[in-house]
Amino acid sequence: MSEDLTKKAADMLLNGATLLGEPCPYCSGVRVMKEGYALCISCGREPGKKELPIERTPEGEKTAIQKTLEKKIEALSKELEKETDHEKQQNILKTINSVIETIEKIRGS
Ligand SMILES: [Zn+2]
Repeated sequence: MSEDLTKKAADMLLNGATLLGEPCPYCSGVRVMKEGYALCISCGREPGKKELPIERTPEGEKTAIQKTLEKKIEALSKELEKETDHEKQQNILKTINSVIETIEKIRGS
């Protein structure tokens, strides 16, 4: 899996994507899905849909804890990149997902 794919998957998760329960039909890899756009993080196959615009919170509006959590996601992404076991990939993605949920809770409060 390439670093670009891992980054893309992490970005999608950061922007509201969810993990797909169904594995990739081509390689059984883990897929992330956002608004009908699914990306396999192992082989990179995806439907030919246009990219969704990415909304970003301006850096100044981020709290220290948000920055910490985002660094955590970066670290997890790197871990994910090195991981070849699909089950472990899924576990790392679940951890990323829960970190993202925490970020969202902070944002929403
Ligand atoms: Zn795949």
